[in-house]
Amino acid sequence: MIDALIIGAGPVGLSMAIGLTRQGLNYRIIDMGTGPVPESRAIGIQARTLEMLEMAGVVEPFIEQGHPLRGFILHGPEGRQLGSLSFEHIKSRYPFILALPQNDTERILTEHLRRLGVQVERLTKLLSFRQDQDQVTAQIQRPDGGIEDVTCQWLLGCDGIHSRVREVLALQFPGKTYDLRFILADCHAEMELSDDHAHGFAHRTSLVAIFPLGHARHRLVAADPPACFDWQRKPTLAEWQELVDARASVPIRLSEPKWTTFFRVQCRLVDRLKRGRVFVLGDAAHVHSPALAQGMNTGMQDAWNLGWKLGLVRKGLAKPELLDSFEAERLPVERRVLDITDFTQNVVGATDRFRQAARDLLAPLFTRSVAVQRRISLIVSELGVNYHDSPIVEDHHLPHGPKAGQRAPDAIVAGRDGMPVHLMPLLGRNHVLLTVDADLSSPALKEIAQDYAGIVDVQALTIDAAGTSVYGNTPAFYLIRPDGHVAFRCGAQHPELLRAYLGRMLAVAGVSQLQHA
Ligand SMILES: Cc1cc2nc3c(=O)[nH]c(=O)nc-3n(C[C@H](O)[C@H](O)[C@H](O)COP(=O)(O)OP(=O)(O)OC[C@H]3O[C@@H](n4cnc5c(N)ncnc54)[C@H](O)[C@@H]3O)c2cc1C
Repeated sequence: MIDALIIGAGPVGLSMAIGLTRQGLNYRIIDMGTGPVPESRAIGIQARTLEMLEMAGVVEPFIEQGHPLRGFILHGPEGRQLGSLSFEHIKSRYPFILALPQNDTERILTEHLRRLGVQVERLTKLLSFRQDQDQVTAQIQRPDGGIEDVTCQWLLGCDGIHSRVREVLALQFPGKTYDLRFILADCHAEMELSDDHAHGFAHRTSLVAIFPLGHARHRLVAADPPACFDWQRKPTLAEWQELVDARASVPIRLSEPKWTTFFRVQCRLVDRLKRGRVFVLGDAAHVHSPALAQGMNTGMQDAWNLGWKLGLVRKGLAKPELLDSFEAERLPVERRVLDITDFTQNVVGATDRFRQAARDLLAPLFTRSVAVQRRISLIVSELGVNYHDSPIVEDHHLPHGPKAGQRAPDAIVAGRDGMPVHLMPLLGRNHVLLTVDADLSSPALKEIAQDYAGIVDVQALTIDAAGTSVYGNTPAFYLIRPDGHVAFRCGAQHPELLRAYLGRMLAVAGVSQLQHA
């Protein structure tokens, strides 16, 4: 029996696979398609996803091949600027949205997996499955048409919007399909507008937006195309040029179309993310407007949340109930993403005069307020994702620093040889106990380090010359989960609180006592 069977090798299934490889699990990943998607689809990678990729050891090719977008400018009808959003407020090593077509994202992740020794089994389809208390038996169809039964501990449904996994589980997928239609084009756009910003043109019919992708490529999206556009065939470049001439307030010359299409948007969320030994993640669990580029990012972070939990449970280092926290943590996040993208689509893509007037009035006010810009940046970048209500985090008040449940920001720690190194790349596999101004030679800390060796790595924060850090300078312990969120924090004078938390959450290394508890 294998540990896990991943259904789907889109960005979410591939991220899941990377997470499971880091945890040393024995799994298979299948996809009924021939390879990465041929189209660009999702083009925006958010700062928190880039941090996730850094923890996973694969961020470099993304940064090399992607194109950083530093903000969004909303242009008014007569060429005047209505408002703008600057991503400089994103407090991360990645203060931008990285524009990169989804086919490149899938290619980079697939190549990374190949280097790790994992091959996606293509043209292999999940037909059905059944589960009992101990295992899942999945029926898959191989490329030669043969049927195979695969038994696994867990089945992970990363199989997209038409998920077979969701269907077999009979999960509800309530929501709506918007009336509004969109058209999309990937082409070259010659224009005198900054190439490191996305641009929106607020026209009285509706919005047209342009996203530079680098390498002389651009993504264009327009809401509510004129009635002359025919749903039965792809929009032509000439039709697109006409639409842009009518709606954009600056000259834009289009050429070299690579992909044009129509789409409509749905807004749906499953009622459960887990049933027994089976999970749904990504588009299989949630779909919504592409406004704010959240869909793929949210799905990839679903996978990052689940991977380490499966690893600990598989090794007998945590109780199986830890897996229930996946739904407790991710479902509220997904609900908020649906709400915020629904709101954004209604405001930015407004087609009626009243909402357009409200948008055009509010845009300059938003632009001037640093507080609003910071708040929007926190939401869009997904750095604000917080599990403070999770049953598996514990906070003991400290005057500074991230609270339990919040993202653990990058910091400088003392590396093996005492040289300063970044914290972020050290995350992603084990828990990390970040000590702030604590006595590393204290018997209590030494005992914890020894008992949890191989599960918890101890790292000492380096406080900069000014004596400051995002973690404050009060002596403290921050226990950081492998997904880069703070699991627990307390003052360094209370190692017994840390010890008690670890005892509840994790088994002592080598002794699978929790399995027998
Ligand atoms: C036209 C378009 C534009 C988009 N633009 C954006 C955007 O700008 N920003 C954004 O964030 N998102 C965008 N999205 C959405 C984004 O593409 C998805 O959120 C993302 O692809 C979800 O990833 P996933 O891995 O969950 O699902 P998918 O990418 O759909 O992958 C699912 C995989 O599962 C496989 N599969 C399905 N059923 C089975 C089965 N029974 N057996 C085996 N394999 C199976 C499929 O072959 C597929 O490879 C867009 C989508 C479309 C279609």
